[in-house]
Amino acid sequence: MPVSPDGGARFAKVLADLYGDAAQHLIALVADRLAAGITDPGWAERKLSDVLRLRRDAQRFVTRLADQVDASLYELLAEAYSAGVLAAGGPGVTEAQAGIVATNRGAVQAYAAELAGTVQTTHTRILRTAEDVYRRVIADVAGQVVTGVQTRREAAARAVSRFAQQGVTGYVDAKGRNWSIDTYAEMATRTTAGQAHLQGGIDRYQQQGRYLVVISDAPEECSLCRPWERTVLSLTGREPTPGEVEGHRYGGTLAQARAAGLFHPQCRHSMAGFIPGLTRPAGRPTAEPEGDALRQRQRALERAVRESKRRVAAAEPFGDTAQLARDRALLRKRQAALREFVAEHDRKADVSRRRVNLVSR
Ligand SMILES: [Zn+2]
Repeated sequence: MPVSPDGGARFAKVLADLYGDAAQHLIALVADRLAAGITDPGWAERKLSDVLRLRRDAQRFVTRLADQVDASLYELLAEAYSAGVLAAGGPGVTEAQAGIVATNRGAVQAYAAELAGTVQTTHTRILRTAEDVYRRVIADVAGQVVTGVQTRREAAARAVSRFAQQGVTGYVDAKGRNWSIDTYAEMATRTTAGQAHLQGGIDRYQQQGRYLVVISDAPEECSLCRPWERTVLSLTGREPTPGEVEGHRYGGTLAQARAAGLFHPQCRHSMAGFIPGLTRPAGRPTAEPEGDALRQRQRALERAVRESKRRVAAAEPFGDTAQLARDRALLRKRQAALREFVAEHDRKADVSRRRVNLVSR
């Protein structure tokens, strides 16, 4: 099995789910605060003067979320690292696996700390979003001419559901695009878990006394990686003799290649151990674009389910409303579509079975 940054992809769902749940809880938290006393006269004024309480609730929630992230990432990245060890293979790999992870605990810890730092940069923005949605819903509902109790419930449910649809922004990139916290966590995990996976493979090759690897030839390759395709690279800096790499092109060290862009995030290239005299030239393409397309489809269906769950959580605190009925119907439809897709393509095997449950509010 090849060792590749793509080996981190299947771990991305774990954090995507955790942050998906977090977005849902946060929206519910805001909706609960807004729904309390919604039938009372002077609701809007009271809610505005109560913004401190909302802020305190959101702060407490984000603190718990940070603890959860800190507590769960080591295991996840150790799993990604082990998958890299397994992918590099060799005799006795299953026995070696436990030991090799133990000796590289420090490396895995560093990846975990890096990923925790990345996803936690979203937390300040999460707090801001909570307060922003709270204020905007109050303004929205107060600005409408509503008569009767049911209408105000309906207006508030509609407004919160609409914000829930947009998701909770965690990051704005250089091009001004909003990344929702779940999508951002998914991308960050994919990148870091991919690096951990690579490191597991590298360490395993070296444990076996190998110092050379060969880079795959991927279809539709990224231009950054094209110069390195099919080249033989050194893991240690030790240069092979011409005889050792006869018929192959030696391209320098893996570290140099990576500094020049090889194995960038989302890279579809992979490496395999190179055995002088045994590894034949002309590597066949190893990437599977079909598998990738299916995985992307599944992620899109999962995102749609998460969006619907947020909307239901947004409308629920306002009791029986037409908005809630609509949101629930859409959620059922989307869950059925996801179930059907998973049953048809049996994609579950491609996803880490780990699941981090967010503590309830
Ligand atoms: Zn690439």
